[in-house]
Amino acid sequence: MSTLFGINFYSGSKQSFVELLNQHLSKEERKFVVTANPEILIHSLGDASYKTAISKANYVVADGIGVVKAMDLLKESVNERVTGIDVMQDLLESANHKKLSVYFLGASERSINKMVDRIYERYADLQVAGFHHGFFTDSEKIIEEIQIQKPDLIFAALGAPKQEAWIANNMSKFDKGIFIGVGGSFDVLSGVQRRSPRVLQNMHLEWLYRISTRPHKLKKIQVLTLFSILTIKEYIHMILLKDTRVEDN
Ligand code: UDP
Repeated sequence: MSTLFGINFYSGSKQSFVELLNQHLSKEERKFVVTANPEILIHSLGDASYKTAISKANYVVADGIGVVKAMDLLKESVNERVTGIDVMQDLLESANHKKLSVYFLGASERSINKMVDRIYERYADLQVAGFHHGFFTDSEKIIEEIQIQKPDLIFAALGAPKQEAWIANNMSKFDKGIFIGVGGSFDVLSGVQRRSPRVLQNMHLEWLYRISTRPHKLKKIQVLTLFSILTIKEYIHMILLKDTRVEDN
């Protein structure tokens, strides 16, 4: 376990994390997963109720490369980046294999319809327990459907902070299920939004691609700047603390 900005992170690899979730699935347990990027961490610093929502998660994984780099700098070991979309795709594969049921919540109506069509094509044995777009005002019907269907996996792609708040507020109403916030993943899996080219992913520049293809995301640069400043502040604090300890000895 590693810590950043007061939040505990799962520090293993993506593969070990997916294996862990598969174990929870086979025991029909209820778990809440946050796939944290710098935006989520910054938001949690300024919004106490959001921080409380995040604290209810069973696992927080380092989704953004910024989070992984910050951990490296602060000597908080985290094995690798574990993205929501990669975990989702791995879980869909194993759920298909085991004929498990899945509920999809989020994105625009067009995007979720397209994604569910592709899911039916690609995962013939997967049980689609239900799906709903993410622009609802009242989620009672959605909650009722999940209570009746009892899906094994519930992917919430409502964007942060909405998806974590929704899961934290409603999770106690369900008996089982792995609840995981996956941001813009439905838009990528539906083909509405392209994931960045592999070469940019390998260069850790996926965030730059996402900003350049969605100019309304320019605010993200401010968040990333603030995240970098706070990380450097923590780093300086860590160095000073180390120096003080050396002097004391
Ligand atoms: N979204 C939603 N309901 C909302 C707001 C957003 O379903 O009230 C969806 C949006 O359509 C998109 C997803 O949430 O598919 C994630 O949005 P974004 O790309 O902003 O999230 P990020 O991946 O950057 O966290």
